[in-house]
Amino acid sequence: MAIKKVKTALDKKTLAAIKKSLEIRRDNINDELGKITKEDKYEHEAHKAIFPEYGDKSDENANEIATFTDNLSLGKSLEDTLRDIESALDRIKKGTYGICKYCKEPIRKERIKIRPISSACITCKKRLKGEA
Ligand SMILES: [Zn+2]
Repeated sequence: MAIKKVKTALDKKTLAAIKKSLEIRRDNINDELGKITKEDKYEHEAHKAIFPEYGDKSDENANEIATFTDNLSLGKSLEDTLRDIESALDRIKKGTYGICKYCKEPIRKERIKIRPISSACITCKKRLKGEA
């Protein structure tokens, strides 16, 4: 199937505002990740959850594990969001932002406002989930 050339429904000003807010969110997430993870030079993962050192008593050990588990799951969800933001910014750069990656039709403005990292229109999303 040939890719249709479609004009994005978003004007330059809206796009610039979205880009700005995505960049702010990205910076905030990077800050958060910096607090709960450390960069690991030896492994290919960008971030590793910090294992805290509270002490050697058994309740302290239990707390260390609890915090580590929290950091791990929070870090994972932050990284997922970060990836979505990065790919949205990439689409802005390439000029494909606001276009559904499946049907190549413009994504409704209302949807983008609510979920600026959307890469698919509601119709395709629903179809993929088996809801339509
Ligand atoms: Zn679509």
